[in-house]
Amino acid sequence: MLLLEGISNIYKIKILVENCMSSLEKWQIDNDKNGWQSPIAFSNDNVVRKKLPPLQFGNYERKFNVSLRNTGHTVQLDLDTTDIDCDDLPVVSGGPLEFDYTLDHIHFHWDVEHTIDGHKYPLEAHLVHYKTSTGSFRNALKFNDGLAILAVFYDYGNCKENIFKEFVQGIEDVSRNVSCGVPVDGICFCGFLPNYVKSYYTYQGTFNAPGIHEVATWVVFSEPATIEKSQLEALSNIDTEENDHPPQKSSPVQEMNDPSIIYNGNFYAAVRKFIRDTRRYIWEAKGDN
Ligand SMILES: [Zn+2]
Repeated sequence: MLLLEGISNIYKIKILVENCMSSLEKWQIDNDKNGWQSPIAFSNDNVVRKKLPPLQFGNYERKFNVSLRNTGHTVQLDLDTTDIDCDDLPVVSGGPLEFDYTLDHIHFHWDVEHTIDGHKYPLEAHLVHYKTSTGSFRNALKFNDGLAILAVFYDYGNCKENIFKEFVQGIEDVSRNVSCGVPVDGICFCGFLPNYVKSYYTYQGTFNAPGIHEVATWVVFSEPATIEKSQLEALSNIDTEENDHPPQKSSPVQEMNDPSIIYNGNFYAAVRKFIRDTRRYIWEAKGDN
């Protein structure tokens, strides 16, 4: 009897292992086809260090009018392109990007997406760009290399002047009205970038938004920009379609070891990170944060 039970248990374990292997294989096939599931937990162990050409930003210093809206999932800033020549729109190129990519919109995740060395920042912005030659975000979705997304982390910090001041009132105006947009003038998109943009992770991953699941080139800056606590509260307190549910809930972060995740950084970036980590450690030890 004991022998039979033992054989039965071994058989059950065998089935379990086989099921597990088949889901792993399926996950691998899906990822081969679609790129890595974003977001990703970056660490020293799962990246390849590689020197890439510098990222180039065009028209990021110009001021633009935007429409700010509560999408029902997040706060989004859409560029108002009325009367603007295509060549005058904000564009990014260089780094891992083979082509020019034009900015379409920015949205935010306050239940953060990516992590670095296990650290979660309080806010992450996604600057979503489409391949310029496709002419629009909608057209770009038809191409495997149609999207490039810059991800920027925000940490609490001393920020007397920051980009959120420009539209925090607008957030309050749309916070109770899903889909209702308000115009905000004079937004300079360089204000969303961290001070240091030479250090970043990059990989081919997925872009998940309601109704969209596409491959995109991700560029995730390792240095955070800053936000005030009250500004983050304004963002994260908006009403959503799901009402009372945490909006823009992030996908589970993938832990992985993959040679296609590249870290472009240098000694200077490592020193900046060391100083940042030490400062955070002291704040946390003092219980200030
Ligand atoms: Zn996003």
